[in-house]
Amino acid sequence: METYYVSRTHRAYAQVGIASVCFEAFFWTSETRLISPTGFSADGRPSGWSEEPAASLCLSAGTDRRIHYMISKGGSEALLVALVNAGRSFSPSYTILLPLLHLLAKVGHRDRRIGVKAEEAGAVLLTLNLLRHNTQHGSRAAACLWAIQVFCSSVSTANLIGANHGLDVIYGLIPQYSTKHLHTIKYVRLMSCVCLCLSLTEANVSSVVSKGYVSGLLRLYEDWHSKGSEHVAIRHGLLRCLHKVTHSTAGRQAVLCQGGIRLLYETTQTCLLSKGLESLVELSVQLMRKCLPKTPLPLTSDQSAYNFPLPGGPHAVPEMDAEPDESSDESDDDDAEDKPEADYDDDLETDLNKLRLRPDPDRPKELLPQYSRLCPELLHDFQELDLSSEPDESSTASSSSSSDEEAVRLNSFPFRCSRRDRRRSTARSDSETEAKGHTEVDAEESHHRTMIDKLLERHGACIPHHDPRLYRAAAAKTTSIPGFSILAFPDFWGHLPPPGHEPMAPRKPNIQRHKVFEDVRRFLNADDIIGQIVFDLEDSSLQCPSDSLKFFSKFECGNLRKAVQVRRYEYDLILNADANCNQHTQWFYFEVSNMVADVPYRFNVINCEKSNSQFNYGMQPVLYSVREALEGRPHWLRTGTEICYFRNHFCPARGRKRTTFYTLTFTITFKHNEDVCYMAYHYPHTYSALKAHLKVLQNSVDPAKVFFQQQNLCGTLAGNWCPVVTITACPASRGWRDMHQLRNRPCIVLTGRVHPGESNASWMMKGTLEFLCSSDPVAQSLREAFVFKLIPMLNPDGVINGTNRCDLNSKDLNRQWSKPDPVLSPTIYHAKGFLYYLNSIGRTPLVFCDYHGHSRKKNVFLYGCSLKETLWQSGSVVNTAGLKEDPGYRTIPKTLDRLAPAFSFNSCNYLVEKSRSATARVVVWREMGVLRSYTMESTHNGCDQGIYKGLQIGTRELQEMGVKFCHSLLSLTKDTKALYSRTNHIDVDHNILDHKSHNCFEDDEPPCVEEIEYSTDCPTLKGTDLDSDVNSNMASSDEEDEGSVGQSQQSSMKSRLFPHPMRQASSEALSEKRNGVSINGQIIS
Ligand SMILES: [Zn+2]
Repeated sequence: METYYVSRTHRAYAQVGIASVCFEAFFWTSETRLISPTGFSADGRPSGWSEEPAASLCLSAGTDRRIHYMISKGGSEALLVALVNAGRSFSPSYTILLPLLHLLAKVGHRDRRIGVKAEEAGAVLLTLNLLRHNTQHGSRAAACLWAIQVFCSSVSTANLIGANHGLDVIYGLIPQYSTKHLHTIKYVRLMSCVCLCLSLTEANVSSVVSKGYVSGLLRLYEDWHSKGSEHVAIRHGLLRCLHKVTHSTAGRQAVLCQGGIRLLYETTQTCLLSKGLESLVELSVQLMRKCLPKTPLPLTSDQSAYNFPLPGGPHAVPEMDAEPDESSDESDDDDAEDKPEADYDDDLETDLNKLRLRPDPDRPKELLPQYSRLCPELLHDFQELDLSSEPDESSTASSSSSSDEEAVRLNSFPFRCSRRDRRRSTARSDSETEAKGHTEVDAEESHHRTMIDKLLERHGACIPHHDPRLYRAAAAKTTSIPGFSILAFPDFWGHLPPPGHEPMAPRKPNIQRHKVFEDVRRFLNADDIIGQIVFDLEDSSLQCPSDSLKFFSKFECGNLRKAVQVRRYEYDLILNADANCNQHTQWFYFEVSNMVADVPYRFNVINCEKSNSQFNYGMQPVLYSVREALEGRPHWLRTGTEICYFRNHFCPARGRKRTTFYTLTFTITFKHNEDVCYMAYHYPHTYSALKAHLKVLQNSVDPAKVFFQQQNLCGTLAGNWCPVVTITACPASRGWRDMHQLRNRPCIVLTGRVHPGESNASWMMKGTLEFLCSSDPVAQSLREAFVFKLIPMLNPDGVINGTNRCDLNSKDLNRQWSKPDPVLSPTIYHAKGFLYYLNSIGRTPLVFCDYHGHSRKKNVFLYGCSLKETLWQSGSVVNTAGLKEDPGYRTIPKTLDRLAPAFSFNSCNYLVEKSRSATARVVVWREMGVLRSYTMESTHNGCDQGIYKGLQIGTRELQEMGVKFCHSLLSLTKDTKALYSRTNHIDVDHNILDHKSHNCFEDDEPPCVEEIEYSTDCPTLKGTDLDSDVNSNMASSDEEDEGSVGQSQQSSMKSRLFPHPMRQASSEALSEKRNGVSINGQIIS
């Protein structure tokens, strides 16, 4: 039926001269479906209609809903046919054509297929011809341009126009509309139109470039700019054109060759002086960033400086470039918020079988008994309880752990290195000052030992649970790829959280722009750039100027590959990719010395990979001053001003696929001359620190009360140990009842630091460990209720070698849990094996939690697993009503929300994503059936809620979080019995289950005052912008002499053409109409 109306309407258009009125009738028809075919009078107009209301209706067609409906009924085709019919005439009537073109612009803008339709109708070249004949006529030219623009939404149409020299016609319009005789608005319209015509096809862009239009556009911009501070809209239009052209390499090249960057830089500097030119500055800055030539990182290879021969020979090294790049699933639980929600939902697991049914075990049962040794509390006979003698360490499974400690006690520990390949580094002179940062562990041992002892004697800080000598002893046994022989001072000396809290750093207004200007100046004044390499991890013989900063990073957890002095007080820093790999740069930790006090130094880490960072939201890096430490302030402090994080113009050294790097820039003003300082992404926590800490804890517990056992889970690829710690309460006696209680305590398994760059995980783990070993009554209750199994560092090799994400096999270990390779991912293979074992002996953990750090969110929160919530969220059709799910997985987060100030319940979610199917959390939940299987994510930055709101997180707060996590386990103690009596019903608050509220996928950052601009795209024009531009063209379309249309006249015309409620085109107005309110006397229902 309606198609019929359309054809009737076509006919009507063809028949009558007053075409515009008929289009309106068409709208009316399709919108209201009231007029029957017979409702048209002989001249094609709806019977009984006057022209006046129809005109109003036409112009009110601007609501999307109506237009879309109209399009679906063939409206675009109708308009195109009418246009072709009217335009073919020898002397076309512009009274008809102009409104037609305007309508087409509005309608076509919302019709995705308008280009194809216009081509089919023969309207494209016709409109181009109309344009050619009307280049002297502003309104008509503009109307044609609008129509051409919407036609160009199709690539083939854009090409068609390009092939018929349309671009020349369009470009030719620009100079004609020069300063004196053109309305600004109209000019801009032309500009935008040109942009959009150009935008789509490479062919068009290269034709524009080859004809020298880029230079023309730049000169025009300069010309308009020099005419004073008005003409903002025109300049804006010109910049938009340039943006379109610079989508292509040729366009960027042209801007560059034509001196565009200097021109934009200089014009922008003057724009900064006047108000109201913000939009120009922003567009110019983006253009400059886009056109700056790509600069390869000053590296000979993108491959990490640390390479490790993997078992199985070189073929075992994964093909690095074969991995997908930026889009790769390098994100952890961590990066879920990067994805738009729709994508995220797509990622949710909807296969009920995959969610519910356990897959077959990944190994034969016979392999499990080997893990019985990791349950020493079950094997131990606690004879000493009867004998009330000294605890006998040798009776426990771990035997090789105490030698170093004893050696240190006896002060006779020889600093021999056990490593075959240890390279003795050039002995660093220690004659300078005692502030010398690093201490050598293997050179001139006795001399150094004496020096260290003296230092400790004189300045030694009393840091709880830290002993520098134990640290040194532990570090001597740590194996690294490069064979570290130097300790970083902070790790050795220890860190105390500073008194008081550290607020997030305020972001300086326009800081990013300011930094980009500085970077552009590097390009413009290349001669002023020093460009001297002052540190190279791979070249220890490098000499650097005596007045430059000195860098060093060849120590545990260290990461800095190269430092380049670019200006007197500015350095570019390049991070080392993860070992055996060419990506994942983010973590840094290095030593800096030879500084001058009270001078701001700018540091730029230029090869960061994540696309956004908490450094844009108040986070600061941390700094440790040796001099301060020796004066009694051994603190890692949040430091740095002028911090921001933005995309830069560097590219990989050697054709790696990734094309984008980000700069983290910050400025540090050192307090002392001749200090040695350390800087890091986050509070470092080394593997040796863990080993030393475990030793301290072992020494600290009362062995009659606390069963504390450290064992080796397995050897790592590099040959380090992966510690497993068992903590529980010793039984009160060896009586049957007490021993039975011990052997039936549920297990809690906690793991951490699978991602080496997430040192916050280690600090939380430190809090947990210390608390569990403490004499706190809660800790005592917990030990009596549970057996704790902790694997504090699942990735020792990664941590030691300063990688950010991976293990030495360049794999993200938290993606290996489904089928861990026993040789290449031993820690995961055995951790999983141990969990299988617990499962097999009926001791499935009550809780599993893997500690992580989150680089882009605030607060601390948990990710858990819920079958029902996942199905709900994914919109799955599976009927969940019949599914039983114990809501107990919410107990811990809910308790933490009350107990832990840094914790945010609202940031938790319990969804099972396909992309996370091989993470510890999901595998332990699905394969071991652990209901409470979590990832605990801690911010690197700080909190935006609770008592820590606005503060950066410190090690005190991280350790506190580790303690609070333990506290929250108390909430499970009443349930334990129920669980182990196999009723499988945990009595927790069922009423807290609220599936719709707590899924936080949205970026939880408020917008920065300064927009964080990563895309260099020019914002696209919105439909509403187009409408208003078209409308304003309509307003003046009757006028031949545009110059004569004054502002007031224009607006009065507008008000005539657009009756207020119509012009608003608001849904209220529409719904009123639909409810039968009469407009201009016409009853419509
Ligand atoms: Zn992580």
